[in-house]
Amino acid sequence: MPLAFTPKDWESRAKEMGLPAFRGRQIFDAIHRRGVTSFEAMTELSRADRRRFQDLFPMALPEVVRREASADGSVKYALRLSDDALIEAVFMPRGEALASAESEFADARAEGPGGRSAAIRPPRTPPGERATLCLSSQTGCAVDCRFCVTGRLGAGRNLSGGEIVGQYLAVRREHPDTSLSLVFMGMGEPMLNFENVAQALKVFTKTISPRRITVSTAGFPDGIRRLGELEKVPNLAVSINAADERTREEIMPVTRAHPLAEVLAAMKAFPLPPRRRITAEYVLIDGVNDSVEDAKKLGRLLRGLPVKINVIPLNPDPRYLPEFQPPSETAIDAFVEELARQKYTVTVRRSRGPDSYAGCGQLKGRAADSRRR
Ligand code: SF4
Repeated sequence: MPLAFTPKDWESRAKEMGLPAFRGRQIFDAIHRRGVTSFEAMTELSRADRRRFQDLFPMALPEVVRREASADGSVKYALRLSDDALIEAVFMPRGEALASAESEFADARAEGPGGRSAAIRPPRTPPGERATLCLSSQTGCAVDCRFCVTGRLGAGRNLSGGEIVGQYLAVRREHPDTSLSLVFMGMGEPMLNFENVAQALKVFTKTISPRRITVSTAGFPDGIRRLGELEKVPNLAVSINAADERTREEIMPVTRAHPLAEVLAAMKAFPLPPRRRITAEYVLIDGVNDSVEDAKKLGRLLRGLPVKINVIPLNPDPRYLPEFQPPSETAIDAFVEELARQKYTVTVRRSRGPDSYAGCGQLKGRAADSRRR
């Protein structure tokens, strides 16, 4: 798929066509630096070469079929792939204070030990300056985390490397002046589509620092190991969600195949560049995993690991997740304070765009609904 070609791939193609290698690099730059996905518009190539490339390597971006904007500025995009499968990507603007790799998301609530978990509002920057794009890696998800709408709606197919890159380019086209960070936290489990995600990462890291790319997993040790072996290692986020095996099995059945101990061992072995930490994600669910005792256990579980903890209050969804409720504000505060007391860096991520169902764990449903009905 031409959208997933690296500069070297394009150089080889150019040489095979009897052209100098730099023509290949020009094509890569046109696509990935200038967002040009039509050979016709690559006027640095001769008219005849444009036609040859067009015939040999036709490129098509996923079609944006729906945009749902939220009051906070995030936009959920529904994109249609060439086989009519629908995926979703979420654009999330963010403030200047969130630009560092250490702080990926808005709504940091508590930082550092002992701090009262009062809401910290990031300073606002003009919209469109910096943003995070949440990408999908599959058209559904077979992992079946119980609190996740995507999981509820079942397995889908893997996205190709070109479809993953195309998803990014299609949304970037709508925000051409925005500097994007990427998170693989949309539909699907990236580690179950590792080859294609890795190919997309090879392309992304040519124009985006790996420090600004995060791959999130439900906890597949082999995938974590392979991610750490990439030439350019992105940030890693792991959904922990419960500090004891039994609770985690209940809300994340994948725990039976990959127990917490294995996941933690893979996290420990992950090769972290200096000053980077793994994000331990924890979806907080009322009455399931949100007590102070749970926070104490989580602190003990993660002791010694280079992590920051990202607490994500569950987004309620009466239709797909009627049995789960979001935690109270008091429970969130107490949970965060306990972890802060244990000297963890904790942020609370308010999932962006709940009013358009663009929040964490809420992808796929709405775009796919009309089809299902
Ligand atoms: S949380 Fe992620 S891994 Fe779990 S079911 Fe949802 S999409 Fe799949």
